Amino acid sequence: MPYDAIIIGGSYAGLSAALQLARARRKILVIDGGRRRNRFASHSHGFLTRDGETPDAIAAEARRQLMLYPTVEWQDAEATEASRTPSGFRITAGGLHHEARRLVLATGVIDHLPEIPGLAERWGKSIFHCPYCHGYELDQGRIGVIAVSPLSLHHALMLPDWGSTTLLLNDRFEPDGEQLAQLERRDVRIEPGAVTEISGKADVTLEYGKRMGFSGLFVMPRTEPSSPIATALGCEMEEGPMGPFVKTSPTKATSVEGVFACGDAARAAGSVALAVGDGAMAGAAAHQSLMFGSD
Ligand code: FAD
Ligand code: MG
Repeated sequence: MPYDAIIIGGSYAGLSAALQLARARRKILVIDGGRRRNRFASHSHGFLTRDGETPDAIAAEARRQLMLYPTVEWQDAEATEASRTPSGFRITAGGLHHEARRLVLATGVIDHLPEIPGLAERWGKSIFHCPYCHGYELDQGRIGVIAVSPLSLHHALMLPDWGSTTLLLNDRFEPDGEQLAQLERRDVRIEPGAVTEISGKADVTLEYGKRMGFSGLFVMPRTEPSSPIATALGCEMEEGPMGPFVKTSPTKATSVEGVFACGDAARAAGSVALAVGDGAMAGAAAHQSLMFGSD
């Protein structure tokens, strides 16, 4: 007997999609590789009732509540293959083959961090990308924005609301006259030179030897889909400012019938709250298509 739906990715978006399907008494399988995007962060902020908890605690409680539903199965594994069958989809994960009538992709994205020594180990602790998630805790201290592309202009223009901001040009961005005026209107200082190292809490060393201390640093990494499964199934993609993501309808249907996508995998920029919202929509839409769609 095939599953009604397989959800690939068991983090916030996938858990939320699964909950809707479980509450519709559907037989589902969640397959999860356990590499949530925010696993590097000490705390998660901005999600109602769980503000300041660890990313793990939020997901673990959601999983506990989901697994109380008797029609839900869980596999801790990486889904490595997906293909169409006459009646739905066939998924391979951890050496097992599964079949399902519908598929929900909640596989998230991978962040490509700039290769600056000291950056990766501070990611999510004193180096962040989302001011709404981590800006408040910097207590209006000094903030540095490490430029990675012209997109860093927007990043730097936002951050003065959270603390006195310096844009470190890092040889990756040269503002023109109009951009310099925008930065000045927002009281953003500019510092030339490549960032060669990050040490201490958030201390930056520049190529010509100057060192600057900050309360926190921000950088906007390029993102890439965590899993090639959407592309392998032929789902249409969209290009966002940070990277590609799965194109979906307002009900989170992809261009491939029977496949839904939600969370960071299917939007230009995400958060826990948005992933949970998208997941709820994808789960309900997958259920609607089981009831009223064609097989
Ligand atoms: P993810 O949480 O990334 O989960 C995707 C899941 O799919 C993973 O478990 C992965 O292992 C699994 N997966 C992928 N491919 C496969 C496969 N082939 N087979 C099986 N499983 C697979 N947001 C906030 O709202 N507040 C914050 O404070 C916050 N802090 C952040 C800090 C950092 C450092 C970062 C990088 C992000 C932060 N975010 C925060 C953003 C937040 O992490 C994401 O928006 C959120 O995790 C998206 O949820 P998701 O379920 O779409 O994807
Ligand atoms: Mg998920």
